[in-house]
Amino acid sequence: MSNVPVAVVTGSNKGVGFAIVRALCKQFPGDVYLTARDPGRGQDAVAKLQEEGLRALFHQLDIDDLQSIRALRDFLKEKYGGLNVLVNNAGIAFKVHDTTPFAVQAEVTLKTNFFGTRNVCTELLPIVKPYGRVVNVSSMVSSSALGGCSRELQQKFRSDTITEDELVELMTKFVEDTKKSVHEKEGWPNTAYGVSKIGVTVLSRIQARMLNEKRKGDHVLLNACCPGWVRTDMAGPKATKSPDEGAETPVYLALLPADADGPHGQFLSNKTVRTW
Ligand code: NAP
Repeated sequence: MSNVPVAVVTGSNKGVGFAIVRALCKQFPGDVYLTARDPGRGQDAVAKLQEEGLRALFHQLDIDDLQSIRALRDFLKEKYGGLNVLVNNAGIAFKVHDTTPFAVQAEVTLKTNFFGTRNVCTELLPIVKPYGRVVNVSSMVSSSALGGCSRELQQKFRSDTITEDELVELMTKFVEDTKKSVHEKEGWPNTAYGVSKIGVTVLSRIQARMLNEKRKGDHVLLNACCPGWVRTDMAGPKATKSPDEGAETPVYLALLPADADGPHGQFLSNKTVRTW
């Protein structure tokens, strides 16, 4: 088994994830895994970094596929005895003018952004080593979508005692409500992406609390963040940040030094803790 520290970035064949891998290759003292659902796109991305003189390793990972997540978990356990840095970056967004019915957009978006990310956490958090760092890439849109929720929902999402099961129930209810066209009446905002990212931010707050309760001595720090508005296939060419600039906050959180006792359980943008 290797004692080398290991970092994993989900959805990193392009966009912000690719830039996070690039930065980690330069700054992280260990093996950096670029992961992608499509091995061809993943290997091409590794080759691109190689042309820049950077060495990333590749492992397949489709966060929608539990078997794929578990295969990565078993690989990390066997080769490294766990992992040191996990960046949950993979995500999807329908384009604004996409005509796919809203209920379908809700189901598909929540499936990857919330349920997929949660499945990765369920499988990989238990093998994160002491002093590990976990970064869940959310979005400022989670904050604006929270503001668009009913007062009752806002209270639930801001609660310091909400459980993961309760959060899953709420995310499931959103999808069900869109199918019945009652989501607005039930207090939800009209954004599937926004609700999926509320899920990611709240999940991060819950997970950080669980780490405090169950693994206090392990000094694992877990946070959610927004990369900013970044020029990628998702956000388009008009966005204000380059992918390397978008990677700055996630990489800052991934590389928090061993003697840092925070941030933990926070939502950050531009390396600054934001009020939730
Ligand atoms: P992007 O260019 O579309 O890249 C998304 C990445 O996620 C791609 O590598 C994609 O792989 C991967 N992915 C999607 N579904 C996946 C799955 N089921 N399993 C594994 N990988 C999967 O988007 P981006 O702008 O870099 O976004 C990265 C993250 O930042 C996302 O979580 C996004 O919500 C968040 N974010 C972005 C912005 C922005 O302005 N760009 C702002 C706020 C937050 P494929 O190539 O195979 O599709």
